[in-house]
Amino acid sequence: MDEEALYRRRLDLALECSGLDLWENDLLTGEVIFGLDRIFSDLGYDSEESAAYIDDIFGLMHPEDKPAVEQAITDHLEAKTERYYSEFRIRAKTGVWVWYANYGKILDREGDESGHRFCGVSFNLDIKKRKQQELQALNAKLRGQNALLERMNAELHTLATSDSLTGIHNRRHLLKAGEDEFLRARRLKHELALLLIDIDWFKRVNDTLGHVAGDQVICAVAACCARSTRAHIDTVGRIGGEEFAIVLPEVGLDEALDLADRLRREVAQKPVAVSANHTVDVTISTGVATLSPTCQSFHDLMVLSDRALYRAKDAGRNTVRGPAA
Ligand code: GH3
Ligand code: MG
Ligand code: MG
Repeated sequence: MDEEALYRRRLDLALECSGLDLWENDLLTGEVIFGLDRIFSDLGYDSEESAAYIDDIFGLMHPEDKPAVEQAITDHLEAKTERYYSEFRIRAKTGVWVWYANYGKILDREGDESGHRFCGVSFNLDIKKRKQQELQALNAKLRGQNALLERMNAELHTLATSDSLTGIHNRRHLLKAGEDEFLRARRLKHELALLLIDIDWFKRVNDTLGHVAGDQVICAVAACCARSTRAHIDTVGRIGGEEFAIVLPEVGLDEALDLADRLRREVAQKPVAVSANHTVDVTISTGVATLSPTCQSFHDLMVLSDRALYRAKDAGRNTVRGPAA
């Protein structure tokens, strides 16, 4: 066997074991030198049908894939690409679309000179493509589920941290935020103030106008507290039936007393409409406390502001009181 025949045998062996089909087109004559025997046979076509399609493989190609294949060929013919590569679907005799890939090169191109032997291999890409598509579908599903999970987590967080009647923070969140702010303020030696607010004579509202009206008053005071504070800095929470607390980071005593008094006036000046023709006058009393050397925890700060609140009530209500003199 001469060297060339031996070479041919080796090539055939390599093609066979790797499932590759060789093709070669003469760009000058348009002649197809090697066909795609294996592919045509895999797709269920007999030799007569293969012969009919070999000159017009585009006739069997999926219309959506044609433009990209044609572009890849053009790019290679114009020497824009080192190698020609394309992926496309071919219609099997049963009508099913099967994915293949082409990998090729003009063999006899010299420098800028265009060659005419366009040679390459085709191979079945179907399993890889289908796995890819399955993976894409799974990823899309996963992204959808993650988005849903994130929304549910956000809702859960809101439910766990907010008060269902007023929409401001609940007691648990306020205590947690207060403890965090306490630790931060102590570490950085910064100021921190706490306002404890209680609606005056609230039992009367319930007793005379009913619980629904009472709830409306609670909501109005909560909204007033929320409006008067800094978003994302202060924490406003409902810590009991008609009691509220406001944590004020970086705020000293004078500023806290000012804010408490502004809030007191605002509530007093704005009667709450509990029905179409009924409003109720509401007042609040507030105890103010700031960090002091005796404060070892946020709880200590709560105790101080609670004592100040008692003094405010004792002073006749609709009042603000700070630390005892
Ligand atoms: P003071 O000026 O001393 O604070 O008097 P007060 O009447 O406001 O104080 P008290 O603590 O005796 O009354 C609080 C009332 O708040 C008692 C309770 O029935 C009522 N309450 C607690 N939670 C709610 C609620 O969610 N809705 C309504 N409408 N009332 C509530
Ligand atoms: Mg109370
Ligand atoms: Mg009260």
